[in-house]
Amino acid sequence: MNIFYYDVAVSLPLRQCFTYSSELKIKKGTRVSIPFGNRLLVGVINKNIQKPQLLGKIGAIKEIISIMDAYPLFEKSIFNSILWASDYYHHPIGEVFNTFIPTQLRKINNNKIEPIEKISEYSINEEDKKFNLTKDQNKAVKELSKAKGFLPSLLYGVTGSGKTEVYLRLAEDCIRKNKAVLILVPEINLTPQLLSRFEDRFDGEIGLYHSRQTPSKRLKIWLKAKFGNIKIIIGTRSAVLMPLKDIGLIIIDEEHDQSFRQSEGFKFSARDLGIKRSQLQDIPIVLGSATPSLQSLKLVGEKKFKKVDILSRVDGRKPPKLIALDINNSPLIGGLAMETISVMQNVINKGEQVLVFINRRGFAPLYQCGSCGWVAECKSCDTNLVFHQSRNRLICHRCESAYAVNKCCPVCNEDEFHFHGAGTERVEEVLESSFPKTSIIRVDHDSTKKVGAMEAIVKKIHSSEAAILVGTQMLAKGHDFPKVTLSVILNADNGLISPEINALEKISQLLIQVSGRAGRNNNLAKVIIQTRYPDDINLNKIKTGNYMNFAKQCLDNNMKMNLPPYSTLCLLRSSSPTQKSNLDFLEKAVLTLSNRRGINIIGPLPSLISKSKGNYRHHIYIQSSKKTFLNKVLKFLTVEFDKWPESKKVKWAFDIDPIDIN
Ligand SMILES: [Zn+2]
Ligand SMILES: [Zn+2]
Repeated sequence: MNIFYYDVAVSLPLRQCFTYSSELKIKKGTRVSIPFGNRLLVGVINKNIQKPQLLGKIGAIKEIISIMDAYPLFEKSIFNSILWASDYYHHPIGEVFNTFIPTQLRKINNNKIEPIEKISEYSINEEDKKFNLTKDQNKAVKELSKAKGFLPSLLYGVTGSGKTEVYLRLAEDCIRKNKAVLILVPEINLTPQLLSRFEDRFDGEIGLYHSRQTPSKRLKIWLKAKFGNIKIIIGTRSAVLMPLKDIGLIIIDEEHDQSFRQSEGFKFSARDLGIKRSQLQDIPIVLGSATPSLQSLKLVGEKKFKKVDILSRVDGRKPPKLIALDINNSPLIGGLAMETISVMQNVINKGEQVLVFINRRGFAPLYQCGSCGWVAECKSCDTNLVFHQSRNRLICHRCESAYAVNKCCPVCNEDEFHFHGAGTERVEEVLESSFPKTSIIRVDHDSTKKVGAMEAIVKKIHSSEAAILVGTQMLAKGHDFPKVTLSVILNADNGLISPEINALEKISQLLIQVSGRAGRNNNLAKVIIQTRYPDDINLNKIKTGNYMNFAKQCLDNNMKMNLPPYSTLCLLRSSSPTQKSNLDFLEKAVLTLSNRRGINIIGPLPSLISKSKGNYRHHIYIQSSKKTFLNKVLKFLTVEFDKWPESKKVKWAFDIDPIDIN
């Protein structure tokens, strides 16, 4: 009798696979149930291996209990994308598998991977296409549909240029060839509008996949995609490895968006993983944006990406004008200057809409004793508590802990408190008193939490006449608000002076994106940027609205300084209850690497948020010109760490291509 040995990935935070045996030949990527300690777990067959030599010394190799499905989870190229991700991001393989399979397949239960009977028929609704494409759109569709095999294309389309229509035409092409298409968006809130465009265009099921769906819904969509029942999927980053049968195209909309990066647990970029997948599957990928990432622009420069432009807006109108408003001598009410309020009044009087952008939710970011200056802080994080009027609580935006509002100061016992700064709630309150007859619509994390809340808000915005929309990032992304003719940006300064990684890239993208929400019905749309730095060189360049020029300058600068995308960066993060444990561990890492050529190290440094959920946080930067070289160094470090007593006292993680130092 033959016995086969397998490397099995187990969903545990361990950077290794485990060896199991079976009398059966099992395909890679198949789910099996295995004994682990005294538990029964789901494992995934990683590879078939030779009979282990150490057999006997390490105890008997356990047997696989059962094969759970007749089909593997993924076909070869997606399987290999997962191996790549685990290797590139240095993350435990079992957890990487788990990220891309529905929750219900991660545990021992009755769910099985098997075909669902009904196949959806697709047809194109020609009625939905009774309008002409612009010249640029037409050219873009022609250029992009030429692609065969792996070819990444950057679709640079200014805001309002009709990128979605290009996506629809490319999807039609796929459907005609009986191929499937995957469309990724950065935020769940952007899925409803895209879904309705696709539903208008196609008869046949359009699948949605994101984390706010129920586990059983997600499993159903995943199985339908896998067995070819669904040919069009719209999803967020967890959908990037959706096992669509006969996939012909991947589209990543708003490719510059930071939300494609998962920042907790398995830190990966769905954009980058999407590109890797399309390479391994040898299919085209289209990355769309009005403010492309520096990474993509660099690859265009090196002719590794093709670039296709849509430079004119669908309505033929000019982009809005960006104006910097000096607020150094203006008193602010809830973050708003008097001059801003009077410009807003004119717009409201004309029956038009205003968008007010502030990158902070809640009422006031600082709650302070008027007598001794005591400031309310989170007990377990190094952050000030934000007063939320709607909940009458002080809330930590780091760990979401809610505290009762102090009646008297814990230090001096006085009972007079002041609010400082402004968040969305405070701006909303100020606007309600300044514009009592106008409807004020707040869009932030708190107001959109409930299922369907965002759709209701968007509907209200479209059906209202004069109105003021107040919101965070959510308002800045991808939506069309045709009645908005004025946008106001309240705290752009934070972005201009931020020490964050690629801060200028982010703030320029944000300003251009916010301005892009406005002016679709009006030639005279304006964007007011309130600033204390009206003469800032970068602000003045961004103000011209020419993103490409500014991005090119950022690229030149980063090249000179050897910063990403011209080098690869890894943050080695460490957190522990004491600062000393972090520093002991990180300093030993620095020492270990000190003689290595080809890498630069900075640190140890405290993270921007130096304490979170009761733990101190520090990091070192490890930088190299070559990705493959950095990968080797990190592998070497991982092996070293295993031997160190210092590493046992901390929680450490590599953050590859980090987007922030928070
Ligand atoms: Zn006090
Ligand atoms: Zn906290």
